[in-house]
Amino acid sequence: MIRTIAIANQKGGVGKTTTAVNLAASLAAQNRRVLLIDVDPQGNATMGSGVNKNALEQSVYTVLLGEVGLLDARIKAQGGFDLIPANRELAGAEIEMVSMPDRETKLKDAIHTLKAAIAAVAEEYDYILIDCPPTLNLLTLNALCAADSVLIPMQCEYYALEGLSDLVQTLKKVRAHLNPRLEIEGLLRTMYDPRNTLAQNVTAELEKHFGDKLFRTLIPRNVRLAEAPSHGVPALKLEPQSKGALAYLALAGEMLRRMEQDQAPTVATETEEAR
Ligand code: ATP
Ligand code: MG
Repeated sequence: MIRTIAIANQKGGVGKTTTAVNLAASLAAQNRRVLLIDVDPQGNATMGSGVNKNALEQSVYTVLLGEVGLLDARIKAQGGFDLIPANRELAGAEIEMVSMPDRETKLKDAIHTLKAAIAAVAEEYDYILIDCPPTLNLLTLNALCAADSVLIPMQCEYYALEGLSDLVQTLKKVRAHLNPRLEIEGLLRTMYDPRNTLAQNVTAELEKHFGDKLFRTLIPRNVRLAEAPSHGVPALKLEPQSKGALAYLALAGEMLRRMEQDQAPTVATETEEAR
């Protein structure tokens, strides 16, 4: 069963792309088949996965315009997962898609095309992660329409909660009008510094409002996570024992455990514990 997770927060620089690339690598390291879709014209997830965004033949842009399917646009990324890349061209897609009748469901259709294609063979992916841009535009809406859930990376700072309530309102609207099944996968505290009392206060608020939707796993501030994109690899490949790489492995473990708990007991296996 495929689970499609949009990684979104309209606030910039909170760790969306870092989470997308490193979670993709961590799920792949736990033998899950992962496709990462970059829907940000900045193309950071593309570069961070070791793909040159300036030399793309196909991309999420050509997929959105209906020129190719997802399977034709995918590339093997550094880190054991597949990637649908993006670059600045994608910024033009919004305008071009506006003229299309079904514009808000274009990516959804493309992802459903993928689902249909793999259903016909065997399942090709267990997880599809979508790295969203830091705006609430048509591209983000496409991702939210296509997703089963949204993973929200955030920094525990003063304005974080305010930004979060805007995002929650947006998700409510998306659920009401576009995608009723959209859940919150979880809130992820990134660049976390436990010595910071503000971070502790924000955590208390998050626990109050979001309960078990708040991931227990904390992503610390870690220089390897910041350096890895310049090497075009996830931190797990750059330095597997780094705190950052281990934190994202732990996040993948937490997600998988939650998921398997939600499924029928017969489906659950002891693999996570055994590893
Ligand atoms: P944008 O909104 O522009 O897409 P983003 O939300 O995707 O940004 P990232 O690009 O993942 O955020 O991270 C912003 C910056 O912070 C990057 O330089 C990244 O390397 C760095 N960074 C992210 N997470 C961490 C971390 N846990 N430790 C140290 N640096 C980090
Ligand atoms: Mg980003």
